[in-house]
Amino acid sequence: MLSGGSPKGRIMKLFSNLRSRGVSQRKLNYIMVGLVVLLSVLLLVSVYLTMSRYNVMRAATDDYIDLEKAAAGMRVGSDYLTEQVRSFVVTGNREYYDNYFREANVTRRREVALETIEKHLSETTAAAALRESKDKSDILMWSEYHAMLLTIYADPDHVIGEFVELKNIGAQLTPDELLLSSEDMMKKAREIVFDVNYIRQKEAIMAKLDECLNYIETDTRAKEIDAAESMRSRLALQQVYIFALIIIVLVMVVMTAVLVTGPLLRAIPRIRDDQPLDVTGAYEYRFLAKTYNRIYASNREKSAKLAYQATHDELTGAYNRAGYEQILAIACAGDYAYILLDIDNFKSFNDTHGHDIGDKVLVRVAEMLKTQFRADDYVCRIGGDEFVVLATKVKPEHSELLKRKIDSVNAELAVPEDPELIASISVGIAFGNAESSIKQVFKRADNALYNVKKNGRSGCEFAAD
Ligand code: GH3
Ligand code: MG
Repeated sequence: MLSGGSPKGRIMKLFSNLRSRGVSQRKLNYIMVGLVVLLSVLLLVSVYLTMSRYNVMRAATDDYIDLEKAAAGMRVGSDYLTEQVRSFVVTGNREYYDNYFREANVTRRREVALETIEKHLSETTAAAALRESKDKSDILMWSEYHAMLLTIYADPDHVIGEFVELKNIGAQLTPDELLLSSEDMMKKAREIVFDVNYIRQKEAIMAKLDECLNYIETDTRAKEIDAAESMRSRLALQQVYIFALIIIVLVMVVMTAVLVTGPLLRAIPRIRDDQPLDVTGAYEYRFLAKTYNRIYASNREKSAKLAYQATHDELTGAYNRAGYEQILAIACAGDYAYILLDIDNFKSFNDTHGHDIGDKVLVRVAEMLKTQFRADDYVCRIGGDEFVVLATKVKPEHSELLKRKIDSVNAELAVPEDPELIASISVGIAFGNAESSIKQVFKRADNALYNVKKNGRSGCEFAAD
């Protein structure tokens, strides 16, 4: 559990826990990749939904423009009728009459506007308002028919049959109006399409149209606000997903660096320096490091064994000739005593007791030497029955001590548990130091040994300087 400490300290503790527990990088990868896939899918779905909300918003705006344009057809159509009827009433020009009825029966912009709105906004306040606007406009048309009829009758040469549209509608003047003079008829016609009453009715038509447009605008705005709100919450969610994705990717990078890349980078110099690896990091890396360390330890053991075998005598465990050659320079780096030993009459011993018993003597001699001398002295078997002890940090004043050691070896060899193993050694000792020629020191020790052999064996002699 993580508790207390600075955030950095807590993070470091978490990583050290992960490292020491050997969390599986593969499992971590599965978890992280799973989370990334999940978040990516959520993000894609959210982006898709946001896009669809955006499309809704765009469609609402497009619809608004289309519907607003369609509804405006009511105003254009109505104003056009007004314009044509007024022009006809003022000028009596037939062209305006024809324009009026082309609009009323063919172009039909008011009807088209109503149809479009009823199709898209059926059973809404907008459709009802526009229908009311159209109904009011239809009612006003009857006044306009009346005005146009008065204009036609004001012309003494008029032929009503030439105005089929008005005839078919069944528009008629009252008996009183038929008695009016041309001027009065004209005057009345103008009053009808220019007076306050006419203007009020036009305003009522436009008021209903504005009501319809307001509704469309309000409805569109509501749709836009709804879509924008939905988009806003989806975008906020997307921010969370993106933030989570970034965090996961960062965690993956850091984890990989801490659990895999870091241990690998630390491993390279250790492998180069022939060192075992630290068992840290991801489970997979720890497994690799443990396997490497096992092979490394086994190889080292084997090569140590080979090196030991190459430098040690198998029978006695003392350094062999090769080992002796190797340690010579090290052992002779300071003051030392070169102690050269040879078993006496060993040839005939072998001949008498057999080679196996002779081997036992060799082993005994080596053991005794190791016991008598210090651990940092070197006991070497340099020939068949010939040994060298290189006693380090020893000077001529230690001669007495060395002699006692040799005497005690000979004393022990003289009274073995097994009487068969009675033996003795002859020893020549020469002192040397870092400046001495090892060859010369050996020669002097060899001469001393020769003297011992010559003087009856089983003893020790120090070489003269
Ligand atoms: P000296 O007193 O003059 O040394 O007489 P010596 O008989 O010991 O003569 P030398 O040292 O020349 O003889 C060495 C003998 O050591 C010859 C050989 O039979 C014996 N020898 C050499 N290596 C081994 C070995 O590994 N085992 C046994 N048992 N004997 C060995
Ligand atoms: Mg000998």
